[in-house]
Parts: sequence; C-alpha cells; structure tokens
Amino acid sequence: MTDCAARFDIDAYIAALPRRALSAPRPNAATRYRVWNYALLKDYQGFTGTERRRASQLGNWLLAAGCLTLPERCEICASPGSTQMHGENYYDVPSDPALCRACHRALHLRFWQWDAWRRIVDASAITGQEWFALMPQHSIDIAGHLRDTWGWCAADIERSPIAPLPDAIAVMLPGNMLPHPVV
Ligand SMILES: [Zn+2]
Repeated sequence: MTDCAARFDIDAYIAALPRRALSAPRPNAATRYRVWNYALLKDYQGFTGTERRRASQLGNWLLAAGCLTLPERCEICASPGSTQMHGENYYDVPSDPALCRACHRALHLRFWQWDAWRRIVDASAITGQEWFALMPQHSIDIAGHLRDTWGWCAADIERSPIAPLPDAIAVMLPGNMLPHPVV
C-alpha cells in the first residue's frame, strides 16, 4: 500500500456518499432481476465484476419498483437532465451518486486523466468535503475495508447489515440474483 493510500480515511469517504431514501415497492414490482449477457466489468474499488453486476441487478430493480428515485440534476456538476447511478460502494446501492454522463465518464477516467477530473471537481465542490472532492486518484479498497468491518455478510446485498433494506422491500426481492461465490 502506498503512503497516500495508507493515509486515506475510507470511513469518512463512505460517510460522505449520498444517502437516498427508499420507498415501498409497487405491488406489481418485477418478480425477476434483469439478467444481462454482456461480460462482467473489471474490478473497481475492490469490488469484483460479479459484485458490480449484482449491485446493478438490485439497483435496477429498486428503480423499476419505484423504491429509488434519481434526482434530475447531476450530484456533482448540478446540470439538469437525466442522471445515471454510479456504483461507488457496491455493498450499499442506495448510496450510489446520481451523475450526468459527462461527470460519470470523467470520474472513471480519473486514473489516467486526473487534471480533467479535478477541473470538474474544482468547478463543482463548495466545501471540499463532498465525496467527489475527497476522491483520490488511486483506487480505494472499499470492499475489503467493509469486509474487514462486517465480514462477508457485507457482500450479501439483499440482506446487508450495512444499510438494511426495509422489510417492505426485502420481502419482495426476486430470487435470481447472480450468485456470489462466497455469500
Ligand atoms: Zn455532472
């Protein structure tokens, strides 16, 4: 681990992520998660491609069921228009920031295009303590950090102890999530 990675406060970073309220699902919510056939994404912030797919399945179901509603402004640059969920903590889907396409792209390209990313941050941050302003250029092992705290049950996102889903949602979740190799 590099010095800058060792000094980074992962708990403060996680706490700075948005916290989206969850509503009860529609009575006619889908009984199956959406299944995609495209290849799994690479690891990000310690989360595996399987974990990223599982979070997408849950997030898309929550959106379609009316449990989650995304804001109509980007949570970085505040530009109006449609937003997309950015997975940052894949063990806690309701903490996904909602971003415009341009900010989402710049965020993922920050490893290679740090200056372009920081221009967006500098134009958008007010306190400097926003999650996106705290985000370092290097990868953060958020997944490993959460498992150190909670154990592997952190990865069981339908029953996660980190941010438990309300009972009204939990009882309606479909049973076909992509299997996790551990949980
Ligand atoms: Zn934006």
